[in-house]
Amino acid sequence: MAAIEVATGVWRIPTAPADFINSYLIEGDDGSLTLVDAGMKGAPKKLLAALAELGKSPGDVTHLLLSHAHNDHTGGAAKIKEATGSAVQTHEREAVYIREGRMPNVDRSTFGGRLLARLPGKAKGFAKVGVDDTFEDGDVLPMAGGIQVVHTPGHTPGHCSFLHTSSGVLITGDAIFNVRGFSYSFASSCTDVRLSRESAARLGELDFDVAGFTHGAHVSTGARAAVRAFLHGRAG
Ligand SMILES: [Zn+2]
Repeated sequence: MAAIEVATGVWRIPTAPADFINSYLIEGDDGSLTLVDAGMKGAPKKLLAALAELGKSPGDVTHLLLSHAHNDHTGGAAKIKEATGSAVQTHEREAVYIREGRMPNVDRSTFGGRLLARLPGKAKGFAKVGVDDTFEDGDVLPMAGGIQVVHTPGHTPGHCSFLHTSSGVLITGDAIFNVRGFSYSFASSCTDVRLSRESAARLGELDFDVAGFTHGAHVSTGARAAVRAFLHGRAG
């Protein structure tokens, strides 16, 4: 299956082997679709195949929400926007990077961060994407009955998680990974490592039934308790 239903009308679409990178598709009552993240450069082929498998057409995707400007989330965005005609939205602090096709600076206080910072710009970039609208913390986007924006900065300045209230699905973005257990994102990929850990704590305060990760499989049983245990240092 190219698309895995995690709740009614919400699908996780893995775009890399072993669930390593996921996008999410959320359906509204009118059948319109909101896509969260567009994977790496080659992901659009998989995303479009998943749409076909669900009996949908590219034109049904009306919105593309981008959690942050890293090329494993935005690499396919330009192609998806072109193929679907969807309106691209991201946090107001992330828009500049997405429009310019570059990733925010990494935290040079880590060894890996210093190494990454020395990579040529091209290695860190992605195809520029037109951003149609920006959002900020606390906004409830009107798609699919309401998608709440939860700003979880630190991984990048405008990194966001998303809560789809009606299905009870939380999409953590890179605030928390679920690759071989829960973890925080790689310190070397963060703009501000400490802030990324602090802001992830916000997710434990939310009400949700399913935890969807952009890296790793979703959790649909005891998700909130498991996320809270991780955030409080009792697991992971
Ligand atoms: Zn990232």
